[in-house]
Amino acid sequence: MTGFAENHAKALTYLKRWGGEGVLNHISGRSVAAVSGETFENISPVDLAPICSVARGGARDVDAAARAARAAFAAWRDVSGAERRAILHRIADAITTRAEEIAFTECMDTGQALRFMSKAAIRGAANFRFYADKAPEARDGKSMYGPGQMNMTSRSPIGPVGIITPWNTPFMLSTWKIAPALAAGCTVVHKPAELSPMTAKLLVEIAEEAGLPPGVWNLVNGYGEEAGRALCEHPDIKAVAFIGESATGSAIMAQGASTLKRVHLELGGKNPVIVFDDADLERAADAAVFMIYSLNGERCTSSSRLLVDAKIYDAFCDEVAKKAGRIKVGHPLDPDTVVGPLIAPGHEAKVLSYFDRARAEGATIAVGGEKAPGPGCFVKPTLFTNATNDMSIAREEIFGPVLTAIPFATEDEAVLMANDTPYGLAGYVWTRDVARALRVTDQLEAGMIWVNSENLRHLPTPFGGAKASGIGRDGGDWSFDFYMETKNVAFATTQHKIPKLGG
Ligand code: NAD
Repeated sequence: MTGFAENHAKALTYLKRWGGEGVLNHISGRSVAAVSGETFENISPVDLAPICSVARGGARDVDAAARAARAAFAAWRDVSGAERRAILHRIADAITTRAEEIAFTECMDTGQALRFMSKAAIRGAANFRFYADKAPEARDGKSMYGPGQMNMTSRSPIGPVGIITPWNTPFMLSTWKIAPALAAGCTVVHKPAELSPMTAKLLVEIAEEAGLPPGVWNLVNGYGEEAGRALCEHPDIKAVAFIGESATGSAIMAQGASTLKRVHLELGGKNPVIVFDDADLERAADAAVFMIYSLNGERCTSSSRLLVDAKIYDAFCDEVAKKAGRIKVGHPLDPDTVVGPLIAPGHEAKVLSYFDRARAEGATIAVGGEKAPGPGCFVKPTLFTNATNDMSIAREEIFGPVLTAIPFATEDEAVLMANDTPYGLAGYVWTRDVARALRVTDQLEAGMIWVNSENLRHLPTPFGGAKASGIGRDGGDWSFDFYMETKNVAFATTQHKIPKLGG
């Protein structure tokens, strides 16, 4: 990896293109300003300096985008699976070619460190490749034998869909949602987060340069309450796939109710990592540190609650605190940086507010607990110890580099505490006892659990949450369940008796 000065110079070159017209919407293959002509300013969390203006889309822009997606739908639906596979692979190739530009732009737009963002673009390409290869089987169904009949199911794309994404790792998450929608044969209107709009525009341009027909993928920037709401309410949009906060998820359901929108919600989490005393403690500590301090802790699957066997609690927390204290906080383009600035001053203030609350609630700040120096939204990696599961630092999603460690006395208590949360996204269990791992994972209320591992994604497996963490699953074939309608056709194979009514 190159040094900071070289990275910074390159980033400035990549950012130049945004200086003029800023981030526009993208509808029917054309870059367009918002119908109102309005824009808002995009600020870099690195130094709070404006980077560019962004089109402030609203209901009229969403209407134009939804009409474009509707007009493009029939032709895209009827493109063969093999051709869709070829186009999606070309998009993946083009993402890989532009990986550096994507990574540098994402770093400056979101504050995420380059060491992670350089991989995010590659992971985005992998999402496209995975769903490219699945495109030819998207319409496949089952055949089911019944007495006197043969049933055949098939799937067809549901229609134009809305995709609403958050600001944490926005490039990767956009590909995660959009690739399966396109593979299924849906057309798309994407509304990226207002705090991180830049790479979404790069992505749709890359897709069209790679051969995606205009109108298949449209982009409307803007605020959630304006563009986002209009997308949920638009009658031409048949389903909304959403990633974001749990409270926004409920708003999305309510907004989509009058048009009977199908919704898929990937929401927040307060994910426990449970460490038993028989675990490989060195690996467990490394994984716990990685899963809360990587990506600035702005990660839905972050291990934000550390539940540790009381017998090893002090030693384990000391180890985590030591590691957290050594983590470099700094400019996201510095190759040594692990924690960059948080997304925006408002979010930084929220994260900082938990330091006083932790003290007031009686927890100890073992490390961090303050702002880090710098002009942007820098916060020191933080560990709270002597915490209990009823404190706000254990219950609320802080979404920063902030870990709350709680001791447990027994396996039952660990499970009780792990489940005593409104959320149910992910869980992590560290033990060498296989029977215990099976018992504990069986009882945990979470959509995804990793045993003796950090969050290592395998794309064919289901991704999603229980309870307030979401509705629906992505990954593998599960994504197609959301983006497609299933049809059953029953063929009579015998002359079954048909009741004769009316003579
Ligand atoms: P957010 O809910 O504030 O915003 C997400 C998106 O929704 C943005 O594009 C926003 O403009 C839009 N939005 C806001 N109000 C809306 C409305 N009324 N109608 C339609 N759209 C609306 O979330 P955020 O702060 O951007 O992202 C962080 C959250 O995302 C965290 O809670 C995190 O856990 C969650 N997240 C979940 C997953 C997952 O897979 N479960 C993945 C990443 C992030």
